[in-house]
Amino acid sequence: MENYSFDVVIVGGGPAGLSCGIKLAEKGVNTLLIEKGRFCGSKNLFGGVIYTSSVKEIVPEFPEVNPLPVERAVAEEGYIFFSKRGVVKLLHTKANPKEAFTALRAKFDAWLSEYALKKGLLIVPKTKVIDLKINHSQVTGVIVDRPQSFDNPKPAEIEAKIVILAEGVNRLLAERAGLVQGPFKPEEVVLAVKEVIQLPKEELEKRFGVKENKGLAAELIGEITLGLPGTGFLYTNQNSLSFGIGIFLSTLVDLNLKPYEILERAKAHSYLQELFKGGEILEYGAHLIPEWGIEGLPRLYGKGIMVVGDAAGLVNPLFREGTNLAIYSGLMAAETALEALEKGDFSEKTLKGYEERFRESYIYKDLLLFKNLKVFLLKNKHLFDTYPEMIYEIFTLYFSAQGRYKKEIMKEILGIIRKKRGIWGVLKDIISWGRLFW
Ligand SMILES: Cc1cc2nc3c(=O)[nH]c(=O)nc-3n(C[C@H](O)[C@H](O)[C@H](O)COP(=O)(O)OP(=O)(O)OC[C@H]3O[C@@H](n4cnc5c(N)ncnc54)[C@H](O)[C@@H]3O)c2cc1C
Repeated sequence: MENYSFDVVIVGGGPAGLSCGIKLAEKGVNTLLIEKGRFCGSKNLFGGVIYTSSVKEIVPEFPEVNPLPVERAVAEEGYIFFSKRGVVKLLHTKANPKEAFTALRAKFDAWLSEYALKKGLLIVPKTKVIDLKINHSQVTGVIVDRPQSFDNPKPAEIEAKIVILAEGVNRLLAERAGLVQGPFKPEEVVLAVKEVIQLPKEELEKRFGVKENKGLAAELIGEITLGLPGTGFLYTNQNSLSFGIGIFLSTLVDLNLKPYEILERAKAHSYLQELFKGGEILEYGAHLIPEWGIEGLPRLYGKGIMVVGDAAGLVNPLFREGTNLAIYSGLMAAETALEALEKGDFSEKTLKGYEERFRESYIYKDLLLFKNLKVFLLKNKHLFDTYPEMIYEIFTLYFSAQGRYKKEIMKEILGIIRKKRGIWGVLKDIISWGRLFW
């Protein structure tokens, strides 16, 4: 690889990097996106659900595109509470299923990168950015794991007026740029493990009661994570299921638990055994989810550099937002880069515009609103063990009340609540849950 020079170099071809690259390429900016995977999406793993409104920001014709890079429109969505003995479902059917789609990243990101190429973005896959070029604290480019040329094995250097870090949760380059102080702590990330389980399409549609490219997206709470702070997920694809669990890394470390073992135990739950019967595992993978929130938010810009998406920790686990926040932040960084290029000023003074845009956005406001979420989830273990069990017991009693005096049933239900959490305990939990939102 010869030495090159670009206006903007983007590190990482996930939704954050690609959306940023598409916007810049559309404006004719000389932009290079470097992706370490074989192709965009090849290394990426998520649940997952993609949100139409965010994709439309970069591909206005979505979802009226051919081929469709997503799996099924999310027609049914909600929570499934797992007790040891069974489940209680809280699912709602959506009036407009096309608001969100289940997706597999290898397909979705690859499609988005094809779209980006058509817009004129230069994408170099199979190349890892190993360092930043920094001159008097101004970032001036990147260094990659490719030789400079056939006869010069030294790593190639690529000049850039602006470098945009869309490197995902591991954020090593953001650290190198001094935008974050040290690596994240185990209590700041969730470790998710996921399997894609193949089933014949007709069988899948029969088992889940879905049809016509419509599907289910469910978050799983309770026994699925052995009652530990975390959740599971179950999404229907065309002819496969995306199933996984995510648990705070600190909990796994403290209890010396292996996530794959928890996943295996979860799959042995009678409810899932029925759904997965005969399924073949197509893929298995693990990935971290950044949940450091506002407290761990890095500095979003420096001299000649900005950081977007997961690398900045822009996820909202409560509302399953990640890809959309990656896209929005990529677009905000692109707008700022355009402004900087127009002014010919790549100093912090102009790149600060990215942080200003970010602070105006709902992403920042949400991070601020949920500033106590991580601590709340880690401290309130009742949410993951007591309540799912309690809900199941209450429903069991309620729906087997035939032939009995109902006042007795209500007394028994009250008895369950008293025994498991106590009336004051429940009230306290409702108040602290409410406080999260206000
Ligand atoms: C289990 C799980 C379930 C999730 N479910 C959902 C969901 O349902 N809906 C949702 O919206 N979000 C979900 N998310 C979150 C979502 O996946 C992320 O928020 C989103 O992918 C972030 O996009 P990104 O572009 O910032 O980072 P990534 O998607 O992680 O992309 C980063 C890219 O950078 C590349 N890269 C990294 N370092 C280098 C380097 N040095 N040189 C070159 N390339 C590099 C990587 O290969 C990768 O392609 C989920 C995440 C997980 C782990």
